[in-house]
Amino acid sequence: MNQEPLIERVLSAEEQKKLSPDDVLKSLIEGNKRFVAGTLTLRDHSKQIRDAVNGQFPKAIILSCIDSRVPVEDVFDKGIGDLFVARVAGNIVNEDILGSMEFSCKLAGAKLVLVIGHEYCGAIKGAIDNVKLGNLSTLLNKIKPAIDKCCDFKGEKTSKSPEFVDLVIRENVKVTVDAIRAQSEVLREMEKSGEIKIAGAYYDMDTGLVTIL
Ligand SMILES: [Zn+2]
Repeated sequence: MNQEPLIERVLSAEEQKKLSPDDVLKSLIEGNKRFVAGTLTLRDHSKQIRDAVNGQFPKAIILSCIDSRVPVEDVFDKGIGDLFVARVAGNIVNEDILGSMEFSCKLAGAKLVLVIGHEYCGAIKGAIDNVKLGNLSTLLNKIKPAIDKCCDFKGEKTSKSPEFVDLVIRENVKVTVDAIRAQSEVLREMEKSGEIKIAGAYYDMDTGLVTIL
């Protein structure tokens, strides 16, 4: 199939301004459908690099795990200048990530904060198994509140139980979303006034499908 690149331009300030948080969420969901279907938009990256040099007006900030199997831009069929992406094992927040989110929304005009957890997350498994390793221990401690919230789970509470791991993965996204609202006055106020939305999502590793939680 000999297709011309479909997208040559990056998002402009005017286009970003016109978008509502729901428009942005819809655009990510539509993009994910194309990713799942294997029909990613062709982009002229070389042209887009030059086009983006004078500024950026991304639609959203995505917080993802570092997992190499979750290529965030591709997952949502987005390209240069479309998304801010923050990545840390276990998609947790700390003040640096919150600061990055505040920059993205308040100063750079992004309309959506989306926290995306994923199936088979090694960070979640490590936290469940209480792995100790240098600075990783401190990071995994931040996943502990999500594990505690799953204390009513009736089966085996180890990383060998796929059901338990999945439950904690989903709970961890909710804990992170709650933490963003609780710890960032800037984002809380922006959400209250309807300027942005803060949401959580789950990435299915088997299919590539993203579900909004
Ligand atoms: Zn992960």
